[in-house]
Amino acid sequence: METGKINVQTENIFPIIKKFLYSDHEIFLRELVSNAVDATKKLKGLSQLGEVKGEIGDTTIQVKLDKENKTLTISDKGIGMTADEVKKYINQIAFSSAGEFVEKLKNTDSKNIIGHFGLGFYSAFMVAEKVEIQTKSYKDEAAAKWICDGSTDYTLETVEKQERGTDIILHIAEDSLEFLEEQRIKSLLNKYCKFLPIPIQFGYKWQSEEDKKAEKPLEPEIINNTEPAWVKSPSSLNDEDYKNFYRQLYPMNFDEPLFWIHLNVDYPFNLTGILYFPKLKKNFEVQKDKIQLYSNQVFVTDNVGEIVPEYLTLLHGVIDSPDIPLNVSRSYLQSDGNVKKINQHISKKVSDKLQEIFKADRKQFEEKWSDIGLFVKYGMISDEKFYERSNSFALFQTTENTFYTYAELKEKVTANQTDKDGNLVILYTSDSEEQHSYIKQAKDYGYEVVQLDTMIDNHFIQQLEMKNEKTHFKRVDADILSNLISKDENVESALSKEQEDALKVLFENTVEKAKVDIELKALSPNDAPIVITRNEFMRRMQEMQKMGGGSPFMFGGMDEKINLVINTNHSINHKLLEETGEQQEKHLKQLYDLALLSQNMLKGEALTNFVNRSFELI
Ligand code: ADP
Repeated sequence: METGKINVQTENIFPIIKKFLYSDHEIFLRELVSNAVDATKKLKGLSQLGEVKGEIGDTTIQVKLDKENKTLTISDKGIGMTADEVKKYINQIAFSSAGEFVEKLKNTDSKNIIGHFGLGFYSAFMVAEKVEIQTKSYKDEAAAKWICDGSTDYTLETVEKQERGTDIILHIAEDSLEFLEEQRIKSLLNKYCKFLPIPIQFGYKWQSEEDKKAEKPLEPEIINNTEPAWVKSPSSLNDEDYKNFYRQLYPMNFDEPLFWIHLNVDYPFNLTGILYFPKLKKNFEVQKDKIQLYSNQVFVTDNVGEIVPEYLTLLHGVIDSPDIPLNVSRSYLQSDGNVKKINQHISKKVSDKLQEIFKADRKQFEEKWSDIGLFVKYGMISDEKFYERSNSFALFQTTENTFYTYAELKEKVTANQTDKDGNLVILYTSDSEEQHSYIKQAKDYGYEVVQLDTMIDNHFIQQLEMKNEKTHFKRVDADILSNLISKDENVESALSKEQEDALKVLFENTVEKAKVDIELKALSPNDAPIVITRNEFMRRMQEMQKMGGGSPFMFGGMDEKINLVINTNHSINHKLLEETGEQQEKHLKQLYDLALLSQNMLKGEALTNFVNRSFELI
């Protein structure tokens, strides 16, 4: 037997690593199983070159638990190592990269590296008090046994081992006994190793509890799918295959994906994957962080926020790239050139796909718009290039359920909805039920009203106004129509100046003055006698601020004032002037309440009073 000292600069790196990596101890399994996969792939490669004698046989990797002896063993039938190779690869290489890691830890914010640094073989010491390697190289040499207890001392001796390959035996430490639980290991394998390219066996499939007691397994339990859809060629897959894979990725999600994009790039970087468009709700809910990032089929993270732009995180699926530098801090990732190119590429693929569906089958695209619109708008707001590309297929749905692209909408409404100053006014509603009376009015004028009712529409509108000169989006209830789209028609008032003043005073005494601005206006006798409107600009700013980070100004604290417009040409208002006493007072209140009601602003006691007054009046 040979004993020796492992040469590391930092003496006591084990306690440091344990402490810093506390939350991520579990990655040891990913690291060891990936090593087993690498060793097996290398063997297969050598075999193809004719450098391995005879058949290589079954190469299934085994993960075994032995609760009694407190060991977890990972066995492969890969290339194995000779005693010299153990000294070189394990004593020198593995340990020197661990030493490097500790150096990095000292210089960086530890949170940034955790989970993104492949610790390799060394990570075994995060959970084991002693690690044993038994390995037999494919090069017909004596098998070697290496033992190390996590100090810098090791022993190395020859051992009897029949089969080619490597067993890594972890003697689990007292503070890591959770890793002797079958369920825990199973879920870790499922998380990190589900799509590794070499079969991995963990235990057996049992038909019944009795069979389990009698140790009569049905068959070995293989935990991974060695050929996930994304590594296959798109031409070999049909729709059902893609949907099945989606179910495999998200067993708890019962919605079907709307469509998908198979990514396959090899220049200027390697990237494969499949991105799915999920059904999006009007609000984002818990839809983010569903994309899984892999590196050569090894799961790395499902927190891809720093790798893809935020709006893309609304998609689901898998990205696999060995070129995304995983072993570095997140802030580095954000400035990494490759990562930027990956973003641009994905974003381009996504808009190409949308464009393709739009062109090939507009009807289908329109049907799916309510599910993808939010995503597209989000992308258009946050990515200039995506905006440019999406402009040709982003849709506006009218209250009549017709869909227009922006260009089509513009063409349709320009003649009727350009105001006297040459501004194009696009009317919209954020709630076609609540704003029903305003929408009806607009329709009576022959105007189109589009539905903009998702949580980011205020931002989207803002963006469109910025990009399109002399274009204004106005919510139907933001003002009376003749103000929203003011044309050059001057309607005369049927009231004298004195009568108008008297009418104004009547309303001033009826409403809560601090909250209401009263304006008299000569409208058509067919328009409503009084209307409440809410300033577009103020309302939009307030809503954006509520959503968070919307505007650079402070509007949150301000109470919104409403406008009350009184139509001086309406016969009801003429009658009011002639009335007196209690009757006049009741009618004034009734009118004001009706205006509030059509804005859905009449609530509580005021609503009760209104109902009772209505009974009296009848
Ligand atoms: P990395 O895998 O990043 O090179 P590791 O610390 O995980 O670093 O492993 C160091 C080296 O030890 C590997 O490069 C490989 O040569 C060798 N090694 C580790 N595990 C095995 C294994 N199961 N079979 C054969 N060689 C292995």
